Amino acid sequence: MNILVINCGSSSLKYQLINMNNEEVIAKGLAEKIGLEDSIFSHTPVGKDKVVKNGKLNDHQEALNLVMKSLVDENCGVIKSLNEIDAVGHRIVHGGEFYSSSVLIDEKVIEAIEKCVELAPLHNPANILGITACQALLPGVPMVAVFDTAFHQTMPQEAYTYALPYEYYEKYKVRKYGFHGTSHKYVSGRAAHILDKPIEELKLVSCHLGNGASLTAVKYGESVDTTMGFTPLEGLAMGTRCGNIDPSIVTFLQDKENLTARDLDTIMNKKSGVLGISGVSSDFRDIENAGEGGNERAKLALAVFIYKVKTAIGSYVAAMNGVDAIIFTAGLGENSATSRKAICEGLTYLGLAIDDDKNGMRGEEIIISTPESKVKVIVIPTDEEMAIARDTKDIIGK
Ligand code: ADP
Repeated sequence: MNILVINCGSSSLKYQLINMNNEEVIAKGLAEKIGLEDSIFSHTPVGKDKVVKNGKLNDHQEALNLVMKSLVDENCGVIKSLNEIDAVGHRIVHGGEFYSSSVLIDEKVIEAIEKCVELAPLHNPANILGITACQALLPGVPMVAVFDTAFHQTMPQEAYTYALPYEYYEKYKVRKYGFHGTSHKYVSGRAAHILDKPIEELKLVSCHLGNGASLTAVKYGESVDTTMGFTPLEGLAMGTRCGNIDPSIVTFLQDKENLTARDLDTIMNKKSGVLGISGVSSDFRDIENAGEGGNERAKLALAVFIYKVKTAIGSYVAAMNGVDAIIFTAGLGENSATSRKAICEGLTYLGLAIDDDKNGMRGEEIIISTPESKVKVIVIPTDEEMAIARDTKDIIGK
């Protein structure tokens, strides 16, 4: 069984074709700068050379046409005909309060995703384009929606309710939703497997630390709190996002700098985080390098990031009244031994200890805490595409 996983961003489209009989990726690729003159398309058939094409792709439909053509191409293709695609799994950013798990896509599901457009104005429209383009190219093939928000729908009311007039929740659904759900769910499942314990008996803190970063408290297999909120801006300091700040800073800066609300939105989403503090880069590798080279603001940016992760872990230990394991995943979480060590140094009161040699390993699932450590620390490479493909397989099998 072959499942095509599609992840449409506002100007990009990522895909993977996975053979679900053995869970092997057989091709993957990426279309970038869709709608611009200098679009780039790259297709990697596993075991063969990567193919790159430049030239304008007007929209997601054109990009998907190229994906399908490449998949069946005589030279760079991996299947003989599109009939060999048995199902499609779509990553959908926002499912609002409609979905707490993945669903088979029908008209009603598309309507619900449309209703969530105002909650994710950049992402959900692109996700819908991906679905309709696939429906046109693969008529009759079952498709499944896998939502970033779904895993967090188990949060209790006290975790997702903002202390604002309640009418804004009733009128506009202003509440905490959380994101990165597919990743948090995937790594939590892997952690239970690695620890050889039922997930229903575990209290986990999952740290997804990439350019966008969020933590989730996973109690007995369910998300009970997460750092991202109504939008992905809340929570930790990130590559370019400010995370939690005093909300009054917004009106203060509007007055001082004569900025509009939109200007501030751009500043908080695109010019803040470790980029804003350091002035160096949004990329954590650049920040680490600059810090090691003596750049004080880069050192400060990293210190702020680490402090926020550490204190957020502490708050989730309180939310769950304990923790069995802490999971590190995504770009920085999987790769930066120094950041992991710095975060864990603030958690020794939990009886947590890291093994420096194990912490130095890379690219594999590994327990990096010492055998005596009361709290386990595990590095788990995330694989959102595989998680989407598995959900898709499960749902079409029902
Ligand atoms: P996203 O999907 O949110 O774009 P990723 O999960 O790909 O993010 O993570 C990207 C981030 O991970 C970048 O800031 C990058 O610098 C960081 N990263 C990747 N490898 C390393 C490393 N070896 N050391 C430190 N940071 C790293």
